[in-house]
Amino acid sequence: MTVKKFNKTTLKKFRATLLNERNRINEDLDYQKSELNKTITDAAGELSSATYHMADVGTDMAEREKTSLFAHRQAKYLSDVDEALARVDDESYGVCAICGDLIEEGRLVAAPIAKYHVSCKETQNQRNHNQ
Ligand SMILES: [Zn+2]
Repeated sequence: MTVKKFNKTTLKKFRATLLNERNRINEDLDYQKSELNKTITDAAGELSSATYHMADVGTDMAEREKTSLFAHRQAKYLSDVDEALARVDDESYGVCAICGDLIEEGRLVAAPIAKYHVSCKETQNQRNHNQ
């Protein structure tokens, strides 16, 4: 049985895609962090001001929670991208972790961190669901 893998040219292309993703997320995270700091400073300023409204602070809190949830998701995605890059390095990138066949290039272009075929993942989800 031959081990299935993408050729070096294709792997190189996906490495570039993944590195782009990583840069983009890092920029997003930096932006989010600076926005978050700004919100906290604003909220602190509001507390000492005369125009202090409970409702406004509540909205800020919800905003901040949303932002940190977003940052959390981005951080998770970032670690997935790093894992995918490691798979590019050992040339196992694009191989379905369930059936061992190559994942269609089109799917990887749309979702560069995909580890499974859509159909394999669905089957697995169903199995988990039935357990
Ligand atoms: Zn598969």
